[in-house]
This record gives sequence, structure tokens and C-alpha cells, in this order.
Amino acid sequence: MQNRNGACPCCFGDGVLRYPTKIDNSLLTGKTYSSRKIPELMHYSYMECRTCRALFVDDLPDSDFLQSSYNEAEFVSSNDSLFAARTYFHELNRMSLLNTGKLLDIGCSDGSFISIVDSNSEMKVLGIEPSIQAINNSDPSVRLKIEHTVLEKFQGESEFDVLTCFQTVEHLSDLRGLLTKSHELLVDRGRLVLVCHDRLSLVNRILGQRSPIFDIEHLQILNKSAVKALLETNGFGEVRVKSISNTYPISYWLLLAPIPKFLKRFIDSRRHTRYLSWGIRIRVGNLLAVGRKIQD
Ligand SMILES: [Zn+2]
Repeated sequence: MQNRNGACPCCFGDGVLRYPTKIDNSLLTGKTYSSRKIPELMHYSYMECRTCRALFVDDLPDSDFLQSSYNEAEFVSSNDSLFAARTYFHELNRMSLLNTGKLLDIGCSDGSFISIVDSNSEMKVLGIEPSIQAINNSDPSVRLKIEHTVLEKFQGESEFDVLTCFQTVEHLSDLRGLLTKSHELLVDRGRLVLVCHDRLSLVNRILGQRSPIFDIEHLQILNKSAVKALLETNGFGEVRVKSISNTYPISYWLLLAPIPKFLKRFIDSRRHTRYLSWGIRIRVGNLLAVGRKIQD
């Protein structure tokens, strides 16, 4: 276990215990560390930052344990990741971030996003991903552009114009390490784009602890102030943060919704049927943040 000594990983503010540990070891399975699973609502003990209101785990699991858990994680659905990738492409394209240069997607899963960028822009794309099963599900056209590693061990190219990191910051035991390494890998004034959950969004406030953001994989859960502080205290400026809507198949939304487990298992077994594969767009409390690298 590493310990954060009660200090917020986003703004260094003091944390107070907010939600005690909720873990049933008998429920841990190969899907526990996969990105699209039936939520179990199990989580480590969360502290809340008094300043920016981020939730964070203080006694962190060992990083080797996390790395092997993600390496072995089952990959559940390409259909879901394709929907997510289209949403992110649309958002970044509207912000004119996908014109030319080099892009690295950190935690790129099956490479759906870099595949879309590769096909629809002049950008050179690369991805890194810790789960071998996710990489094995990638399209052959992008497989060679994905490196099987974690960011801290990435030794490849640098001088990227854009780094993207979607739905990943919650999972990192060294959150500030992501920012430091991103700073090193970017060209001067290059952009880092983060997409993550907003714990203070309306839907998450309504659901409270029934929200699927309460998860054993989530070692911190941010909000707009927290992500802004995280970027600004790590060498990024011109920070913009906005709420985004996500389009996902109906099956995905139903698996996240607070409905009985037997219904979720039924839906999970039929997630590829036609009606459950239709995409619908909902604002579910995700935020997108962009910061520009500034010199130290
Ligand atoms: Zn904080």
C-alpha cells in the first residue's frame, strides 16, 4: 500500500473520511478490473478534499497489483468503446484539436478512438494500453500503433501535439505522475485532454452511493474544480472544462442504471441484440478538460 497522507492528489488540500470501505472479496472476478462490467458498487475508503471536493483513496493498492489486474482484465464490449470514441472525436474535432501533428491516446483500450482519428484526419496516432485483451480486440489497421504498456514505462516517441486520456484518470494510483509524464511528452503549448466523471454532476448527486462511479477501480473521482486544479498545479494553462453528453448503446445505460441485478444479468447476456445496441445520447455526468502545456 502507498499512502497519500490525507492530501488531495488534485490540489494538495486536506481530506476527511467521507465513505468507508465497501468490498466483498467473494465478489471479485476477472471482470472486476474491466471497463464495461455490471457495477458492483464496491469501493475502497474515500476521503473528500475540503478544498476542491475530489474524492480520493488514501491507502492505495500496490501499483504492481493494479498493473497485473488491468493486464488480465477481460475486455467486454467493442460496441461500447466505438460509441465512446465517436463522442470524443466529435468533441475534439469541434475544438479544432485534430488537425495536424501527433496524438497519443493514453489507455486507448481497443484503439477505437485512434482508429477514427487515423481515418478522418492528417494526424499521426499512437496508443498505449495496459490490457492485452483490449489490444487483441483492436482493429488490425491500428494494432501496430498500440503499445502494450503503462504510461510510466512508456519509452517511445515524444513531442506530441495532443495527448488524450479518456475515462482513465480515476484508475491511476499516481495521478500526478500522469500529468508530469504528459508534460514531458508534449511539445511546448501542446494540449492534454482528459475525460472523466464529475462527481458533482446532477445525476451523480441524485444517485449518491448508488452511482456506478463508486467503484473499486476508482482511486479518485474528480469534478470540475478538481480537474482544473490538477492541470493548473502541474504546468498546464488556458484550462477549459465542460460537461459532455455521451452516446452509448441502450444496454450500456441499463447496466449502469440502479435496477435489480437479475435484470442487469439478463441485459448483459443480450447486449448485442439489435434493440439493445441502439445508441442514445445522455448527459450522465462526464466532463472534458483541456489544458495547454506552459513552461515551468
Ligand atoms: Zn483537492
